[in-house]
Amino acid sequence: MTHRKPVIAGNWKMNTTPSEGRDLALEIAKGVSDFPGVEVIVCPPFTGLANVSRTVESSNVLVGAQNVSAEPSGAFTGEVSTAMLDELVSHVIVGHSERRALFGETDEDVAAKAIAVHSAEMKPIVCVGESLDTRKSGNAVGWVREQLRASLDGYAGWGSLIVAYEPVWAIGTGEAASPQQAQEIIGELRSELVELAGQEAAEQIRILYGGSVNSNNIGPFVDRPDIDGALVGGASLQAAEFVSIVENTARVYGNPA
Ligand code: PEP
Repeated sequence: MTHRKPVIAGNWKMNTTPSEGRDLALEIAKGVSDFPGVEVIVCPPFTGLANVSRTVESSNVLVGAQNVSAEPSGAFTGEVSTAMLDELVSHVIVGHSERRALFGETDEDVAAKAIAVHSAEMKPIVCVGESLDTRKSGNAVGWVREQLRASLDGYAGWGSLIVAYEPVWAIGTGEAASPQQAQEIIGELRSELVELAGQEAAEQIRILYGGSVNSNNIGPFVDRPDIDGALVGGASLQAAEFVSIVENTARVYGNPA
């Protein structure tokens, strides 16, 4: 079993009003209090961050944002800076495939955001993952390694980094990758991190799997040597289901309540 503390992060996407978010966070915080061996992060939309961060203040739940601007301040209507988030969150998801596909974020943008997050003393959760076409072409490994390298160009905060491998074809589809497929790519991503950050740093970096994770399939993922947890979308919106994912992770790591 690995020495890395597992992470279960919930990406709520564009769901929950501020009061719904508060209620969901409260239920999750109560449910996961028995599993301190798992790092639990919830990522509400921006409008829910203040409520949620107050709600989980004295629990073992951490809060993340789903995006951030790389710009420090100024004439960027509709954007949110690291300084604004810093009072509310410890983590920020950057480069989620929906940001890349729907909002045109490039690897260069993602790297700039990751650097900005680390500079503001928060922790980036940097997402990478191949499309179905890339997987079918047989070049998923090379493609995702290159995407990670480009998404971390100029980044040096290895102690703060979390990586999420989320194959685009598995997100929100109900068709999770197999634990074997996820381990293969995540093992390759760790090799890439060895090249970028050195062996010692790379061994400390948590790499998560994401894509249709639920309480029934989480176990075999976190049982794999390089998979240190999950980034969970749909299943993170139901408190009981999300708590079960955390519980089943704790069980695999040998510390059930
Ligand atoms: C995600 O959006 O990061 C995700 C993994 O979604 P889902 O769990 O719904 O596939």
